[in-house]
Parts: sequence; structure tokens; C-alpha cells
Amino acid sequence: MHKLTLAQQAKALAAKQISSEELTRHYIDRIEAHDGQLNSFITVLAEQAIEQAKQADADRHQTSVLKGIPIALKDLFCSDGTATTCGSKMLDNFVAPYDATVVKKLKQAGVVTLGKTNMDEFAMGSSSESSFYGAVKNPWDTSRVPGGSSGGSAVAVAARLASASLGTDTGGSIRQPAALCGITGLKPTYGRVSRYGMIAYASSLDQGGPMAVTAEDCAYLLQTMAGHDDKDSTSVDLPVPDYVADLEQTVKGMRIGMPKEFFEQGLDSEIAAHIQHACEVLTSLGCEIKPISLPNAELAIAAYYVIAPAEASSNLSRYDGARYGYRCQNPRDLEDMYSRSRSEAFGEEVKRRIMIGTYALSAGYYDAYYIKAQKIRRLISQDYSQAFAEVDAVLSPTAPTTAFKINEKSDDPVTMYLSDIFTIGVNLAGLPGLSVPIGLQSGLPVGMQLVSNYFKEDVILRLAHQYQQQTSHHLQIPASFE
Ligand code: GLN
Repeated sequence: MHKLTLAQQAKALAAKQISSEELTRHYIDRIEAHDGQLNSFITVLAEQAIEQAKQADADRHQTSVLKGIPIALKDLFCSDGTATTCGSKMLDNFVAPYDATVVKKLKQAGVVTLGKTNMDEFAMGSSSESSFYGAVKNPWDTSRVPGGSSGGSAVAVAARLASASLGTDTGGSIRQPAALCGITGLKPTYGRVSRYGMIAYASSLDQGGPMAVTAEDCAYLLQTMAGHDDKDSTSVDLPVPDYVADLEQTVKGMRIGMPKEFFEQGLDSEIAAHIQHACEVLTSLGCEIKPISLPNAELAIAAYYVIAPAEASSNLSRYDGARYGYRCQNPRDLEDMYSRSRSEAFGEEVKRRIMIGTYALSAGYYDAYYIKAQKIRRLISQDYSQAFAEVDAVLSPTAPTTAFKINEKSDDPVTMYLSDIFTIGVNLAGLPGLSVPIGLQSGLPVGMQLVSNYFKEDVILRLAHQYQQQTSHHLQIPASFE
């Protein structure tokens, strides 16, 4: 059953060839058997999931394709009555009192929640090593990282412990782990999906999205997740297209740009060769591939590591030991409670970001760092706008390397930050981006990133879907988890 895609499972459920309860129990058994090695879940909601599955099986009114499909949620989506930790000691005792909007929409569609997945603390990271609950392991090689920060969500799908999952992407956290684990992951346009009930990291960049085996599966999930929400003032009130129907439209004549800056220096030659092969498939489908330029691309990481920590330092000020989350033992006074609660419960990377962000926003440095970074952000958006005057999509690798070893980069934050070199500009511009598996290099997955213009998720989903009709990389399962 776990070898079927979400779309195939949905058909089998609708035809009553399988029940949601059977499918859900099957995944729970797989989680029990395999997650000890992978550490992809923080919380498994076995009983609740079986209850939801029984309800889905009994419900004759709900006709959503997603009815009865078991998925996993990154542990920063609030879901009513369940622990929502954000991978942090700070929220180890936090039980969400409400559902995030996307969780509510998926529940209404009859989706079953298997559990909450492991992640870098507060979504800060590219390797899923910084979780309070321990590092997540890559199912293709358990001595390696799965990418991050949505590493648990990527692993749960790659090892077929869930039909699909939700992740969030602030600088690459859906696309980069999708690439390193060999699955398909979509970061929607900023504003396409409500952020209400998603624990905030950097609010002007954060966006939730689907992670699944195929682009088609992502389209089904996005269909339900997308749309305006009164509770999120940055969610955009635009009609939601029929993403699933759009998948079958032709891609013939689509223009795809390859940014020369991404291919110029130092790109791993084997990754470049995989990209070349993928381009040949797209060309055979009638796409036209041409060089483009994103002249400010090299500034993206520097700008991001001012803007994201600045927003994080403000968002994370709410964790003060007073309202919710961790409180230190026997505080002497208020000041002591603030400072010890935060010192004891935040991990190293989170503290580093809070310090960088606070510094960048302080009087005297604000203009030199924060304002400057915002100007660069504007230039990066303009580069993409110019590109989209000439092309329908921008193509690049998703990540500069395949999955690296656990502990290989954890002592060197700057090297770690470079993992997101191809993905971060897309968040700064607020554009949609998708990662699709394009093959294995020494047994480890390689991903290709496709980026389209604002609210043109249909374009990249269609390109990825049609690429997947011609290839089978996305269907490969790591040998120990077949
Ligand atoms: N790796 C980036 C960071 O650490 C992006 C993380 C994310 O997208 N949540 O900020």
C-alpha cells in the first residue's frame, strides 16, 4: 500500500479496494518498525489517527479526494490538543489549543494525521540536526542528514511512513530536504497559503507547503491548503485554480531559464550532469531552455541572514517563561526568569540568530544592516521579475550537494548556510518554488528546483508532473525501507 502515490491511494479508497483504517494502520506499523532508525517523528498520534480513519471510512458525505489519506505535519503546525514543539525544549510542554488554518482545512477534507514530524529547532537549519529531540537520519544513508529544517517531513515521505506531509519553507526548508531525500516538495507563493497557526520564524518569508512522492500529490494537497484566510492578513484573496486539472495541460513551448550565475563557478559536475539530463527530458517535451541572468543572486544569503534573524529575534521574544513554554526553576525575580528561561531552553543556533537579529535591528546598525538587506531583497525580486518577462520558469539544482554526513557542518554555521544558496532568493522574492527528484548520485538523491512567477504554482507543478510522466526517479524507495 505504501508504494502507491497519494493519488493512487485516493483512487483505491474511493473504489473501496482499501479502507482508510487499513492504510492508516499500515503506516503506523511502518512508523513503529522503522522510525527508531530515522527519528522523523516527534509525536505519533496512533489512536487519534485510527479514530480519524474510521470516521473517514464511515463518512458518506465528504467527497474530497483527500478523505482518509494519512499524512504527517511538521511539528510547528498547531493542531488542537496535540503537542506542538517546534523541535525546541522551549515548547516541549506546549499543547496547541487550536488548529492552524491549513490543518483545519485538511481535517475538514477528511485527512488523517499520523503525527508531528521532527525538525530543526524553530525551523532554523538545513540539516535537521538542531532539534531538541535529536537529529533526523536520511533513509538513503542513515549516517547522513536529510536536509532541513523540514527533515522529518521529508524523511517520513521518503521512507514511506506517511502518504505525504506538510513542511514550511523560510529559506529552502521544504525544497532542500525534499531534494536530499528524493521526494517532491512545493513552497507556494508567499500569501497563497495561510500562515495562521504556523509557529513563526521569519514572518515575511515563512510559507507552508506540501511534500509528497509526486507533483500530482502536491497539487492535490495545495488545492485544499490554498486560499485566503481572514486570520492571516498576508494571505492573498485570489481564486484558487484547479491545480490538478492543470497538470495535463501541455508544456510545449514553455520557456525555461537557467541562471548563469548558478552554473558558473564550482557547481558539482555530477549534479550539473543530472541537471543536463533533466533538461533533455524537458526539451523532448517541447520546452525551450535558455540562459538567463540573476545578477544579484550571490547576495541572497547575506541579505537573508540579516532579515531572517531580525524577524526571528522579534518573533521569539514571546518566549519569556511567563506566558507559555519553558520556565526555569525558582526564578529570583522577573529579569532572572526571562533570562534563565531563555538561556536554558533555546539551543545554540536559535541563540545565535536572536543575537544576530537583535544586533542588526539595534539603533546605529539598523541602517547599515537591516535597511541594506531590504534593498538587496528588492534587487533580487527585480532580477526575478526581469527573468519572468522572458521565461515561464527558472531551473537550477535545488541544493549544491547531496546529503552530507551528520556532524559534518554542524560546527560551521556559514558552510551550513550555503546549503540554501539556490533556494533563499526565491523566499526573498516571495515566489513559488518546487523541488523534483532527478536521479541518484552515489546512491543519494539529487533534486532540481523549478521556480515560477507569483501565483503560477500551476506552471511548475505541470512541468514537474510531465517530467515525472517520463521518468521514475521519484518512485525510487531507499532499499531498507521498501
Ligand atoms: N536553512 C535556512 C535557515 O536556517 C532556511 C530554513 C527554513 O527555510 N526554515 O534559516
